[in-house]
Amino acid sequence: MEMKRYIASIMLCMAMSVPVHAFTVVIDPGHGGDDPGAIGRIAREKTLNLNAALQLGEMIKEAYPEVDVIYTRQTDVFIPLHKRADIANKNKADLFISIHSNASDNRNASGAETFVLGTERMEDNLDIAMRENAVIKLEADYQSSYEGFDPNSIDSYIMFDLLQSDYMNQSLQFATLVQKQFVDSLKRGDRGVRQAAFLVLLRTACPSVLIEMGFISNRDEERFLASEEGKIGITRSIFRAFSQFYRPGKAVPALLSDTVVVPTTEQQIAQAREQQKVDITYKIQIFSTRKKLPKNDPAFKGLKNCTCKKDGVWLKYMYGSCKTYAEAKKLQATVKKKFADCIIVAFQGDEQILVKRAIELQK
Ligand SMILES: [Zn+2]
Repeated sequence: MEMKRYIASIMLCMAMSVPVHAFTVVIDPGHGGDDPGAIGRIAREKTLNLNAALQLGEMIKEAYPEVDVIYTRQTDVFIPLHKRADIANKNKADLFISIHSNASDNRNASGAETFVLGTERMEDNLDIAMRENAVIKLEADYQSSYEGFDPNSIDSYIMFDLLQSDYMNQSLQFATLVQKQFVDSLKRGDRGVRQAAFLVLLRTACPSVLIEMGFISNRDEERFLASEEGKIGITRSIFRAFSQFYRPGKAVPALLSDTVVVPTTEQQIAQAREQQKVDITYKIQIFSTRKKLPKNDPAFKGLKNCTCKKDGVWLKYMYGSCKTYAEAKKLQATVKKKFADCIIVAFQGDEQILVKRAIELQK
């Protein structure tokens, strides 16, 4: 019976041409809602984490439509730590990526580090574990949810000593790939792969890492983390590590495999900004369908040279190419006569980005 049902479901998937589930990644932007995480001069941790998580998810979906991308939060809301792990377990995650930004009383501290759950040199990393775990105190019933665990008491951390993770090797593998990308491609300061007693990693039943992208308490690094260059560079680094982990030995998709050059001088930053402005195009998306259509298909209602972009199982058809939002608005008004529901979409190079962001970049 079971077998029959299994075969039937596979056949159904094939008939609907839905990709068979291959892999589930749960992306966890740390903090949110009443818990801002670390607060810098210009940036807040919860917002940086959320941006990076959403961007990473988009990149993965774009490159690997067969991968299920699930977020623990997609908006600015508070989610208890244990619920974050529950989301991973309920969805039978194959990989859990928690994204954070660091802070330290030492304003000079800088660099990226990636943690796995473990007790090696745990005392060295107790501060950071305590700080990240302290958020459970915002949860009304934290004492029962975490069986009396007190995030500020060293004694509580003794329980981690008994811990044996089945996923240690794979977690270490992914963490190492992330650090390698941060250091090799993005030239971030390397604080290495470390082990610490993070509650959020304790309950997940899959390879799990916690990434600290950099120090929001360090002026230069905060500026980098909050910049467009920084945001994209960091997300691409994690994305590439994901590619290598998900498809060991296979090449990273061409679109994203260009080496990220991080501009450092004022002049380079200005140049990069100009480059981004030039690189933006707006198009009018007229409809989505699962079917590949020939160029002169009547469905285009006479619109010529429509382009097509794959998004998961969908093919999005688009018309026109404008350099500014104002131009796109005008074009949309004419296209609306044929396609009442058409929308404006934006691209940076080949990568689709939010229209709002495209407008911001062009300011
Ligand atoms: Zn954090």
